Amino acid sequence: MRLTVVELEREAIDFSLELPEGTIDFGEEALLVGSFQTKGRAEVLHEHRSPTEIVADIWLRGQFSGVFEVPCARCVEPVRHALASEFDLLFRPLGVDEAGAERAISAEETEIGYYEKGGLQLEDVLREQVLLALPARTLCQPDCKGLCPVCGQNRNEQNCHCSERPTDPRWSALSKLESGKDS
Ligand SMILES: [Zn+2]
Ligand SMILES: [Zn+2]
Repeated sequence: MRLTVVELEREAIDFSLELPEGTIDFGEEALLVGSFQTKGRAEVLHEHRSPTEIVADIWLRGQFSGVFEVPCARCVEPVRHALASEFDLLFRPLGVDEAGAERAISAEETEIGYYEKGGLQLEDVLREQVLLALPARTLCQPDCKGLCPVCGQNRNEQNCHCSERPTDPRWSALSKLESGKDS
């Protein structure tokens, strides 16, 4: 769904969408399970910077929810995260802040972004919001034992009998050298 300043200047858009799996590509790290719900409002906000300079911003507020599968950082088993979050974002035309310093806006909680070519793609904004809402590091359980570095066995499911020592050939060459010294 594309939100353009030209359209939003005419009237604000209230959206309520249920997006099926595959509508938004969240990348390799997050897989949507089931549908993604979002609703909110997009409107233009005019910043009167001077009598001659009026900046048309896109103000986007709303909420989303969805269930995502993210691989465990240790054993790569999928872990489910049910996300439900709100967003309150302001997009300025790209380049408008380059000349001067960052300017404060009145709404304190609002995050600032930039839009290009007269508008923005709602799905792009939602993708970014989802990735921000996901935890930086996902573990299937706090004490996940991870994968055996030797055989790849998931150690949560079954213990393997691999040696704890790395089997790098350089190490075995070294240990041969050392045992040679002793004899
Ligand atoms: Zn794990
Ligand atoms: Zn193993």
